[in-house]
Amino acid sequence: MFQKKTIKDIDLNEKKVFVRVDFNVPLKNGKVVDDTRIKAAIPTIQYLLNCNAAVILASHLGRPGGEPKEEFSLKPVADYFEHLIDARVLFVNDCMGAMVEEAAKNLQNGEILILENTRFHPEEEANDPLMGAKLASLADVFVNDAFGTAHRAHASNVGIAKHIPAVSGLLLEREINYLGNTISDPEKPFIAILGGAKVSGKINVIDNLAGKVDYFLIGGGMANTFFAAQGYKMGDSLVEEESLGIAKEILKGTGKKLLLPIDVVISDEFSASANNKTIPIGDIPESWSIMDLGPLSLNKFGKIIRDSKTIVWNGPMGVFEFPAFAKGTFSMAKIVAESNAVTIVGGGDSAAALKESGLSDKITHISTGGGASLKMLEGSLLPGLEALNDK
Ligand code: AMP
Repeated sequence: MFQKKTIKDIDLNEKKVFVRVDFNVPLKNGKVVDDTRIKAAIPTIQYLLNCNAAVILASHLGRPGGEPKEEFSLKPVADYFEHLIDARVLFVNDCMGAMVEEAAKNLQNGEILILENTRFHPEEEANDPLMGAKLASLADVFVNDAFGTAHRAHASNVGIAKHIPAVSGLLLEREINYLGNTISDPEKPFIAILGGAKVSGKINVIDNLAGKVDYFLIGGGMANTFFAAQGYKMGDSLVEEESLGIAKEILKGTGKKLLLPIDVVISDEFSASANNKTIPIGDIPESWSIMDLGPLSLNKFGKIIRDSKTIVWNGPMGVFEFPAFAKGTFSMAKIVAESNAVTIVGGGDSAAALKESGLSDKITHISTGGGASLKMLEGSLLPGLEALNDK
């Protein structure tokens, strides 16, 4: 059960509502190239408009380093957003100060005001109490719907919550329900598919899930470190020498639960046009590297996936940026999408593979947060959620 108050628990009629959204989207030449996060915030914003609230939206974009920089302006995002919603949308080129106060005061019910990048002020990431108070002074109610930054304690998601009623938006609630509640009480068999470059980033995830999952299916560069810990020669493969000790411990602790690839695609250099071949797992020839899962591994993992009831997937199965080594990740996307299980996907790379394959809508829940979703899988509390009012 979600334990925080949400927008459905409070009166929003004619209220000024400050919503922290995650509009931290990729831009190219001043144009939004992926609007997933913007669209994910719309149910909350639309709900507030339907309640006759005046809506103030705040977000960060990129890492401007605490000062205004044009390339990190939210103006192009505001322009884009305007076309997605049937309401008057205004933009103000700061998030604090007299001009912002005036714009917030004049904002009418049913209208939207988008503030400039919160990270144009160093006080944001320092969670400066004064900034939290100033942001709060703009509104009657605070709504956090920015799951992507919920693992950070900043002024616009934590500081502000001390001053006015603070509740969750619909996206944040959904993320927590899937990444927290579903995973803490999953329908079994429950499996975690983990990939990506490093073991070190996922040790806490493995620790937290070890008592809950039936299987870990490991792919990507992560698997190399486990193979090295088992004594195989890894050629030029990416191996985290400093994680060999912990990898050995994990192998011992998880036993037959942790499944590694049985065949792999190797290449003679780290490039898109490298020579490649598929081999059963064993010593990797000198100066060759593991780049992807092989077909036998996909077949073996696929059988387990098809028998599962709950699946969480985080991280690519290979160097999917090169088409020659993307098959493992894209085949995995297809296998996960075709499963009848509750499927929960975190991490930008896995989500991107699903999107590119046109399979996103076959997944139960694709998280909008990379770092935040890993924190949830680690079982950590998120400051942005903790700061909200209890039910
Ligand atoms: P992460 O941020 O830890 O999820 O890692 C994502 C990155 O892992 C992607 O950029 C992949 O190219 C990379 N990756 C996946 N498999 C391998 C591999 N076998 N060798 C090197 N890098 C890999």
